[in-house]
Amino acid sequence: MAEAFVTLTSEIQAKFPSISFINSNKGKPLLVADDYTFKLNKATTTTKYWICTINGCAANVHTDLTNLLMKTAGNHSHLREKEKLEVREARDKMIYLKIHFLTLNIPA
Ligand SMILES: [Zn+2]
Repeated sequence: MAEAFVTLTSEIQAKFPSISFINSNKGKPLLVADDYTFKLNKATTTTKYWICTINGCAANVHTDLTNLLMKTAGNHSHLREKEKLEVREARDKMIYLKIHFLTLNIPA
């Protein structure tokens, strides 16, 4: 049983080599897989259900509560959002630098 699960997980990870998490501009977590973004739709005691951020797109991802990828389903009806993500990451980096700059310059 455990072995079968490991095999299945490896196959999924081959299809989606990595997932990561960012925060949306509303502070909600977003899952990023293969340059597509997903928002948290609902969570049960065992599973988080993530749906594509594009309205009407059928693609979705299931993770466990520790954000480990369990399943991907459906196909995207649109192109990847890589360019949008690069803008968002650059903005997050700016915010990070700003916070640290301010922290370093607080008078003692
Ligand atoms: Zn999609």
